[in-house]
Amino acid sequence: MLLSYVNAHKKSGNAWQTYLAQIDRVIPYLGELAKWEQSLRHPKRILIVDVPIEMDDGNVHHFEGFRVQHNLSRGPGKGGLRIHQDVTLEEVMALAGWMTIKNAAVNLPYGGAKGGIRVDPSTLSMKELEKVTRRYTSEIGLLIGPTKDIPAPDVNTNSQIMAWMMDTYSMNSGTTATGVVTGKPVDLGGSLGRTKATGRGVFMTGCEAARRMNLNISNARVAIQGFGNVGSAAAELFAAAGAKVVCIQDQFCTVFNHHGIDITAAVKAHEEKGRIDDVANTERINAEAFWDVDCDILIPAALESQLTAARAQRIKAKLVLEGANGPTLPEADDVLNDRGINVVPDVICNAGGVIVSYFEWVQDFSSFFWTENEINQRLDNIIVQALQRIFEVADKLKVSLRVAAFTVACERILMARQLRGLYP
Ligand code: NAD
Repeated sequence: MLLSYVNAHKKSGNAWQTYLAQIDRVIPYLGELAKWEQSLRHPKRILIVDVPIEMDDGNVHHFEGFRVQHNLSRGPGKGGLRIHQDVTLEEVMALAGWMTIKNAAVNLPYGGAKGGIRVDPSTLSMKELEKVTRRYTSEIGLLIGPTKDIPAPDVNTNSQIMAWMMDTYSMNSGTTATGVVTGKPVDLGGSLGRTKATGRGVFMTGCEAARRMNLNISNARVAIQGFGNVGSAAAELFAAAGAKVVCIQDQFCTVFNHHGIDITAAVKAHEEKGRIDDVANTERINAEAFWDVDCDILIPAALESQLTAARAQRIKAKLVLEGANGPTLPEADDVLNDRGINVVPDVICNAGGVIVSYFEWVQDFSSFFWTENEINQRLDNIIVQALQRIFEVADKLKVSLRVAAFTVACERILMARQLRGLYP
């Protein structure tokens, strides 16, 4: 019923359609396991919840929330919570599907899940945001749990929101359940290194891809769309490695400096004002001009469906690092491929966050916490080795890194499916 509703809304740029098109492209490489492919196209569970809260002015507002468990063949569900005014069920389904692929691509013992609440959090007071988070957590309480499904931060959610989720779940279950979410504050069972882990993974996979292309990071020019958790952490690491971050864009503005933007100043501005429009020594340019910026590395780190075929024709970069989930449309993939532009796909490029979330979960279960150095080293090893394997498969099959990453992941998911067999 729901899938027929979703299929009726087929349109280019719809994230679920992008996910399905990516699955289509990997089927020819799955051999016998392809007989299970339908399990990749059907989310296992979808929960739509009503989230009513009393606003500060005394009125009651109802918000719509979703939690999608896409596939649990390899372990509990894992995937973030997005709070955004444009969140739709199709988008959350796609994001959950990409989590299934990502967790398998880096061989974490998880399935894929994702959540969303449809509201612009900037229109809520802190108290209202807390109420929305807590009521949503209660409503999805029948699905989540430390061994069932473990949410984490995504767009517009952070460690404070994870703390409220953890507390709500704990109150409802009568126990302190730190392992129910990851990305918590360190004082509450969170892991060192988690906040910057996704940006770090973008940087590490970028370095490995650049090394293979003989592209020198220390004088590369980088353009980044999205200056939130992922984009800003990646920007700091590229700048620290000597790269020039020449352009950054957020939802409000796009700023440019041919000689490189002062990233420390941009991070400070973002932390203090939530905006980057008045960072010193930058020129403000038109949002669409972002795609024409002269750069070596382009990092979409905002939302999905940003890199269209038309934009893919215009970009100057030699390497695209997908910090965001699903930023590139399938038609754009073809253009980039034809133009010889390398793309490190989201399912490996931004996997640093879920890898350190996995470390957090393991640390919570064992109540034994690691140093930041240990965490970063383990992250670097896992993500670089996973990318190297994907490069090998891409070379062997003569396919893009995206098809190779999906091949590695889908083989693992469908093998688990086959070994478990169908119940009953
Ligand atoms: P965030 O909320 O911290 O930041 C989002 C950024 O994107 C902000 O700078 C915002 O201004 C910008 N943005 C929003 N709409 C935009 C638009 N239309 N044009 C340009 N910029 C826009 O979110 P985040 O956690 O950094 O997530 C960004 C992307 O990375 C998402 O696709 C998310 O799913 C993905 N991701 C996040 C994590 C994580 O650990 N947070 C992990 C893996 C993938």
